[in-house]
Amino acid sequence: MADLQNTFSWSFSAAEDFDICRRKRYWAKYAMWGGWEPTADSLRKDAYRLSKMDNAWSVLGRAVEEAVVWTIRRAQAGLNPTPDEAYEAAARPYLNRAWTESRRKRYLENPKRYIALREHYYREWTPEREQEIIAALKVQSRRCIEQFHQNVLPRLRNVRPENEIRIAIVGSGGEPESFEFEKIKIYAIPDYAYRVGPRLHIHDWKAGKIREHHEEQLTLYGLWAQVKHNIPPEQVDVFIEYLAEGVTRHLTFTAEDIEAIKERIRSSVEEMADYLVDGNIERNEPLPQADWELSQDLALCRRCNFLELCQKDPDYPPPGAS
Ligand code: SF4
Repeated sequence: MADLQNTFSWSFSAAEDFDICRRKRYWAKYAMWGGWEPTADSLRKDAYRLSKMDNAWSVLGRAVEEAVVWTIRRAQAGLNPTPDEAYEAAARPYLNRAWTESRRKRYLENPKRYIALREHYYREWTPEREQEIIAALKVQSRRCIEQFHQNVLPRLRNVRPENEIRIAIVGSGGEPESFEFEKIKIYAIPDYAYRVGPRLHIHDWKAGKIREHHEEQLTLYGLWAQVKHNIPPEQVDVFIEYLAEGVTRHLTFTAEDIEAIKERIRSSVEEMADYLVDGNIERNEPLPQADWELSQDLALCRRCNFLELCQKDPDYPPPGAS
């Protein structure tokens, strides 16, 4: 098999990492590369393992998604599943799996396959705090599933599988959903999309709080629909489903919105290229580690998967950090 290439790519989460801390982007995109190989050095292996790490709230989001997909499939089969059944069949097993794998440190055998929780790894919880978090996740996941059944499922009842767009999600085995824009690979992974006549409907499940920046991020789906499925922005409807709050935000796009997102990508890519040898994104060779600045914000570091690696850097914490 030909060697995998670490090609330059862009996504909103990568841009966010880069914006908040250059070093984070270095660990997550470059230092980790090849860390899955048994012969990789320990820094590479560690960066790869840490790059795969989850946290309690990302696991909650995934558990709710599992329950949502489970429910949609049963409804399409003519069944009438209850929120309790969805929780028991899909969300609870996922939460249990996450906790079991993380506590047993199974990720040390295979970080891609087994879930690690950052809070376990960095011992962020007292036993009492962990019990509180587990109880809160149960309540929140049940609430999200109930809201989905009440507010969203009635709108999806008539969607047939043949109208759905297949989307490669993270963890499904192959490469996650992406498209090419000006020769750059852009990752954009809508949760659920289907055609309604000439229109495309996209739903994004959110198990957490309403955040204003979600709207800009989801404009990327308008570009994805245009480039990958040849659907003009005016024919795309995005529904941000804030399941915990029972709120839906409906977004539509204009050609100007799509131009704005293109500009956002271009300027972000340009900044990222400054950290590559000769600014060459085709070669995608990073500048040395020391050129990727460490964050000055230690509160950010305390929530960062890569803290262990930065703490080994003699320059950490940087002067003036607080
Ligand atoms: S621990 Fe701090 S400095 Fe290191 S990558 Fe994370 S945010 Fe950046």
